[in-house]
Amino acid sequence: MAQSTIRQRKGNAIKSSNINDETTNGEKYQPRQQQDKSPANDAPLPPSLSSLSNASSSTTPASTTTTNSSPSMVPADLSPHYYDKRTMTPFQEKINALTILPSAVLSIYYISSGKWLLQESIQRAEDFLLNFNQESRMHLSQHFKCWKNPLLPHLHHMPPITIWAIVLGILLHAPCSFLYHWKYAAAPHLNHNPVARIQHWSRRLDHSAIHMCSIFWSYATSAGHLPFFALNLVYNIDSIRYHWQPEIRPRRNQLRILGSMLLYTSPLLWRTDEEDGGGSRQPLRFQLFGKIWVIFCVALWLFAAYPLRGWSHAAFHMVMVAVPPLLWEMVAHDEVYGDWSMAAAHCAVLRRRPQ
Ligand SMILES: [Zn+2]
Repeated sequence: MAQSTIRQRKGNAIKSSNINDETTNGEKYQPRQQQDKSPANDAPLPPSLSSLSNASSSTTPASTTTTNSSPSMVPADLSPHYYDKRTMTPFQEKINALTILPSAVLSIYYISSGKWLLQESIQRAEDFLLNFNQESRMHLSQHFKCWKNPLLPHLHHMPPITIWAIVLGILLHAPCSFLYHWKYAAAPHLNHNPVARIQHWSRRLDHSAIHMCSIFWSYATSAGHLPFFALNLVYNIDSIRYHWQPEIRPRRNQLRILGSMLLYTSPLLWRTDEEDGGGSRQPLRFQLFGKIWVIFCVALWLFAAYPLRGWSHAAFHMVMVAVPPLLWEMVAHDEVYGDWSMAAAHCAVLRRRPQ
């Protein structure tokens, strides 16, 4: 696809943006500035230089810091008015940053409190250990490799890898997203410049981390199914690659993220009972798939329609907090890690009732 390069200059400050000539909805991009054909101008500028330019080049119509809805500033695969209702105050951006943290806090609590253990597993372990004496309990504790850490009094055993995979995905993404949103709270001139924002390294990092999270979650939802994990790995790494190209195409990248969500939730539909050790988990998985996608639909509506204006993105973050508990519920029921979970349940009972 042919590309045009916009250049705006004031003194030494230069801003560049590679923009496609055609938008996906048929609208033509109309450059306001004369195009510069020199080869040197084809190279993207570092984000810091671009930001510097945004702050200093306030005399050209397209780079004004008081409006962000200029069609010439909108990436080619978006509507020219994409940013009309997406302007946020620094305070709203700070709320965006803060609302990404509850998932991370919830993850740490979930792991450290031992909430990943099913009550039915603990009940079975209690029944099994009912008549064991102290010496036998000590042997069992060693046999099950139980943990004892005064700093983590409720964590008696290493959680299954799939539980960790969900937690690590969240803990990897949260700081990147926080950084991205906080960056714009601290630098409103970037917030008001769509091109600078879309090309900024912190946004690229945030979106790359979403794909990294998807890789981890695909491992969890497929119960460590390696071919499926490899497929997700390739797809998401390929998607991350797009986020570090000079030209950012938001619509394509958003569809890629949607694709990754479809991919990592799909095992809830296609996994068979044989993989569950003969257990019948399919009704539960179908139910969880439905719940997760209802949440995704609400979240995506908030993300795309911006019904709450500048508060919509924070609401989007908060709605997404409901997803990890559903994934954990599914993983906790996986019979693939049944022995692991039972060992952990025995440890919980052994540690809880010393005799
Ligand atoms: Zn966000």
